[in-house]
Amino acid sequence: MRTKLAAGNWKMNGISAALAEIDALKIDFGAPGVEILVCPPATLVDRLSQRVQGSPVMVGGQDCHENETGAHTGDISARMLHDAGASHVIVGHSERRADHHETDAMVRAKTEAAIAADLVAVVCLGESEAERDAGETLAVIGRQLAGSLPDSATAATVVIAYEPIWAIGTGRTPTLDQIAEVHGYLRAELVRRFGAEGDAMRLLYGGSVKPANAAEIFAVPDVDGALVGGASLKAADFGGIIRALEQA
Ligand code: PEP
Repeated sequence: MRTKLAAGNWKMNGISAALAEIDALKIDFGAPGVEILVCPPATLVDRLSQRVQGSPVMVGGQDCHENETGAHTGDISARMLHDAGASHVIVGHSERRADHHETDAMVRAKTEAAIAADLVAVVCLGESEAERDAGETLAVIGRQLAGSLPDSATAATVVIAYEPIWAIGTGRTPTLDQIAEVHGYLRAELVRRFGAEGDAMRLLYGGSVKPANAAEIFAVPDVDGALVGGASLKAADFGGIIRALEQA
């Protein structure tokens, strides 16, 4: 049995006042077998970590640099996130791959840095709409998976998030069959490369997950949770998704 994970990605949203949204999650949830992760902007990692201490809510960063220290103005290392109280970090989100030209090799280096700093890396993959229309989805996903994961990846140190780019923030989602096809393919590739560890690695779906569609997505085989953007900003919405995961 894989532990399920509901992960929220606040992206570049949230100042101090937003931290109160998390208070309800601390009280309402904590079912065994379901983990809750919130990834606020880097400015809030330290304060959120203090605020959720002793609760089921874990805190993550949204990106890290591949180096531990150095002349990289504006960047944050995995060790710094860990020092600020984070237990996880998202790497390779499609917005970073697009906005910051991150390649699979860079994502792999960041994943290695996260593991070295005792963070769980949430490694994101996903095809564009043009790639899906061209029938290239599995080829793209397979290439990203192979290139973004280091050989040192284990079920304890890495979580994979499948996020079709065209479903992020659009209100559109793949069909359940399309999600099942990609997650089944990812599982097979992980088992082929990592054996039993690959079978134990969590596979999240991400892209316009909301309380209304969460239950049907969580019923798809090999969906072990969700990476949630917009709907993670409000406790009521994120709570609805966590509840659906608890009941899956
Ligand atoms: C995301 O960006 O990781 C994401 C899944 O966003 P949304 O839920 O808003 O589509």
